[in-house]
Amino acid sequence: MSKKTLHAVLFGPPGSGKGTQGQLLADRFDVPQIGAGELFRAEIAEKTVQGKLLKEYVGSGVLVPDELVNAVITNQLKQLDLRKGFVLDGYPRNVEQATHLNRVAKINLAIQLKIPDKEAVRRLTGRVQCVDCEQVYHLTDTPPIKPGICALCGGKLKKRNDDTKDLIRKRLETFHFMTEPLVTYYRQQGVLLTITGEQAIPYVFEEIIKKIGKLGFKS
Ligand code: ADP
Ligand code: ADP
Ligand code: ZN
Repeated sequence: MSKKTLHAVLFGPPGSGKGTQGQLLADRFDVPQIGAGELFRAEIAEKTVQGKLLKEYVGSGVLVPDELVNAVITNQLKQLDLRKGFVLDGYPRNVEQATHLNRVAKINLAIQLKIPDKEAVRRLTGRVQCVDCEQVYHLTDTPPIKPGICALCGGKLKKRNDDTKDLIRKRLETFHFMTEPLVTYYRQQGVLLTITGEQAIPYVFEEIIKKIGKLGFKS
């Protein structure tokens, strides 16, 4: 089988490891990673026109309206040479967004990361993130060497505002209601790959690599 370029999306509940695995995949396959939440937080920090609109939603546990999300992501995709591949994590998050994406870029792999809600809560309540470079840590699973300090850039580590018990619950509900139907959508497109995301980070990554290798994607 000839080598296929990765045109991938990653979806799963908050805390399933989309950002973590997306970054590993992008590095291994040498393709750009577009993290929806990350991109939105950058727009907000830069106080762009779209950032000001996004601010109302991001961090409050509700989804950003499709029209706005689609515009921001399309704009980002337009800056890439899509033929060279990409990994999108956190987008699409519902069938309407997936339908929009389908018109902008053809997807040949949709990775569903599956974890129980209880594990999502455990992970997100322990998640801390670098304020400068966005590197993610977990207070007990993958702690930084120096407490509170990013091992990569020396930046301060902070909890995200939406990683509170109440907002985690709300985001999980939204996931089950809005995002889970993507399973059927991508299965029908013949590109669905379901991965059990409960093992430690390197094991989950190896499982992805093994399975997508069999599908003809080679790093
Ligand atoms: P998402 O982008 O899906 O919200 P992240 O990649 O930010 O998820 O991961 C959420 C939290 O869980 C982070 O603190 C991260 O370090 C941790 N984490 C990610 N994958 C695993 C894993 N396989 N096992 C344990 N902890 C993990
Ligand atoms: P997580 O997966 O941990 O919830 P993200 O960093 O991916 O976090 O997203 C943070 C927030 O950004 C979401 O709670 C939501 O408000 C917004 N967001 C991210 N991606 C989308 C999307 N595809 N559609 C709508 N809102 C989104
Ligand atoms: Zn950092």
